[in-house]
Amino acid sequence: MNIHEYQAKALLRQYGAPVSDGRVVTKAEEAKTAAGELEGPLWVVKAQIHAGGRGKGSFKEASAGEKGGVRLAKSVEEAADETAKMLGRTLVTHQTGPAGKQVNRIYIEDGSGIDRELYLALLVDRVTSRISFVVSTEGGMDIEEVAANTPEKILSFSVDPATGIQGFHGRRVAFALGLEGKQVKQCVALINTLYQIFVEKDAEMLEINPLIVTDEGDLKCLDCKMGFDGNAIYRHADIAALRDETEEDPKELAASKFDLNYIALDGEIGCMVNGAGLAMATMDIIKLYGAEPANFLDVGGGATKEKVTEAFKIITSDQNVKGILVNIFGGIMRCDVIAEGVIAAVKEVGLEVPLVVRLEGTNVEKGKEIINNSGLSVIAADDLSDAAEKIVKAVKG
Ligand code: ADP
Ligand code: MG
Repeated sequence: MNIHEYQAKALLRQYGAPVSDGRVVTKAEEAKTAAGELEGPLWVVKAQIHAGGRGKGSFKEASAGEKGGVRLAKSVEEAADETAKMLGRTLVTHQTGPAGKQVNRIYIEDGSGIDRELYLALLVDRVTSRISFVVSTEGGMDIEEVAANTPEKILSFSVDPATGIQGFHGRRVAFALGLEGKQVKQCVALINTLYQIFVEKDAEMLEINPLIVTDEGDLKCLDCKMGFDGNAIYRHADIAALRDETEEDPKELAASKFDLNYIALDGEIGCMVNGAGLAMATMDIIKLYGAEPANFLDVGGGATKEKVTEAFKIITSDQNVKGILVNIFGGIMRCDVIAEGVIAAVKEVGLEVPLVVRLEGTNVEKGKEIINNSGLSVIAADDLSDAAEKIVKAVKG
């Protein structure tokens, strides 16, 4: 689960990390008061969406030469003006995809004088099973680009969970970033704080890009992206409260309410599968036969008829879906329950695209019987490749 920049900064502030003063607004009328509460003489007006690259992004229907989603203002009036110009519009960045994201909140922040822009991130390194730091002198840029073109400018190391974060970690970062004097002490404190937030809040990703050295020579977190482990959110009511459902794919949101593991993808074949491994295999075999999956969907081991119906509804609500493949292995799950769910769902939402069903396992005969007697035009398949071949053929002809 991701949160907005202003929420991440509130968390940083709460833990004592250096951030600027700022106010969030959702209505243009609130902007003047909000900006007036900040010191000036420079204000930064920042669109809040769950995507990076806002500064270099552009709004849909932008006027010629119009700026992106991060704008400087030299007065309270100008800050209010820029807020009004951005609210409600759609911002497209290299991370949003061409559809962009609607800007519903604006963060107005004290402007900082910048001497240097640096990069700092924490993430879970799946290879070492540890929390890793990624550090670079090339802040304010895409780290992927830095990694591709100048990998020598990136320092990466992981922290041993048995000993935890130590002073030398912070000093190592400070050295790599070329910090000096008081900045070294500030860096050590910041590294400790970020690690503490990461562990205590079950974060998955914490990126500060840029971390800056101000004109006064102090470190400051100028931008912040944070993501949290969805499976641990139940332990953190404060983080759960920060969820902004308008930022999420409506289909993924509906799926999460029914405890379905669903990820929307770009292809044309909707998949309903039980078990993550089988779901991955199904996606692979669809690709092998020349089509693309429209989603990953694992209905889980103990799915009920209601859950299957809901899953079916989510798949059919996707305009890109030109065919559906149901691939179920009845282990814990019974094939007849799946069959009933599919039939109930088709009756409820209708079926406008070809549907291939492959059932195997517990009560498979009963399941097939239910489908064959349903009077619906369902294409039955015997095994995985037969199913994939049939659905791809039905969609592509
Ligand atoms: P994004 O990464 O989405 O483009 P950032 O918050 O990193 O958004 O802002 C982009 C750039 O705008 C930063 O690299 C920095 O140069 C400038 N900027 C952002 N916030 C401030 C601020 N408070 N004061 C001065 N400049 C800022
Ligand atoms: Mg940034």
